[in-house]
Amino acid sequence: MTNSMASEIWVLNMCDTEPDREIFGGMPMTQRTGKQTWRGVTDALPRFIDRCDSIRDDCGLPLKMTLFIRSDLQISEFYGRPGWALYAFGELWDTFMKRGHEIAWHPHLWRWSDKRRSWYQEMFDEKWIREECLKPGYEDFCGYLPVRISRMGWCYHNNCSMQQINQLGIMADFSGLAGMVSGIRNELPMHNYSMYDWSLTPSYPYRPSVADYRKSARNGEKALSVLEVPAATLRLPVVRRIKRIIKNVLYQQRFYQSPRMLINMHCSHQQLVLAFLKQQVQRAKQEEMPVIYSWYLHADDLLSENTEKAVLRNIKYLQNMAKKEGVNLIFKTASQVAEHILRFTGQTESPYQIKPGADSEARQTPIRVCRELPAVIDG
Ligand SMILES: [Zn+2]
Repeated sequence: MTNSMASEIWVLNMCDTEPDREIFGGMPMTQRTGKQTWRGVTDALPRFIDRCDSIRDDCGLPLKMTLFIRSDLQISEFYGRPGWALYAFGELWDTFMKRGHEIAWHPHLWRWSDKRRSWYQEMFDEKWIREECLKPGYEDFCGYLPVRISRMGWCYHNNCSMQQINQLGIMADFSGLAGMVSGIRNELPMHNYSMYDWSLTPSYPYRPSVADYRKSARNGEKALSVLEVPAATLRLPVVRRIKRIIKNVLYQQRFYQSPRMLINMHCSHQQLVLAFLKQQVQRAKQEEMPVIYSWYLHADDLLSENTEKAVLRNIKYLQNMAKKEGVNLIFKTASQVAEHILRFTGQTESPYQIKPGADSEARQTPIRVCRELPAVIDG
């Protein structure tokens, strides 16, 4: 620290708030119609939100969640309108918001394919992404409450989706994963999910280049006005990195994953979680600006008591560690984080840039995957 202010770590707790996934008793991706279940939202989330009140930050304020709620074409196909969940569970959202939590937008680019007999993530049909999925999803959400914060389904963005959320008026997006890429080459999987390319993305907030959503505009490139706030990620320890390299080589015709990992509070790799949280506290000690630690889970993850316990335990761990190191830990919502950053941000760059060199790992991650994919011809 070079100034007199105390070091701070801001913890942003995000929840993808959507129907239960198949592993939690929800509908399989291969089923077009039927009854989705929302037990994660109706049963688990209220219980967890109750627990949040007893977890206080260094300002004495309770843990705040930012709930990213689905509003997109798939939801519209099931219920007749993209923002159905906002209206159907409106009482729940009102109660949560009164307690300081925030709601935000979580569009999935799920599209039905008769040919595959499955939902899949649409990545190529720009007209569909802009006009059929994102625009109606945004507008129906805004009918309930004007929304300025988004997080994409499966952390997926491309230039088209980033430009569209920008055009719609989103202030800040929280989909990015610094330096991470995960994708499948040559052959397309049934659902295309778990595919994203943030290989050039830094671990600090930036205004995306119009030409490449993954990085800030430089050398005269035009910038979008939406702020991208990527999650910091962990470079895998040596043994895991080697394993991943071997896997990438063995399956090189099929997929590629970067040697980095997103660390959420409920990750099952406890040693990695602890090491990563420690890194964040150390970063906060060195930075002049507050360090943002953002993480997420799905509402249905909270159906498992073990997951809930892991989250609470790791938050406690982070709080203790921050206290020991003299770092203030503050819970923030996504819009509080975004508004703070924008207050200090110029046209294209952010003062949140970390020291030269510290981000080089993320920048050096090779660009692979998504752009090597064939165009999808789908029916
Ligand atoms: Zn989702």
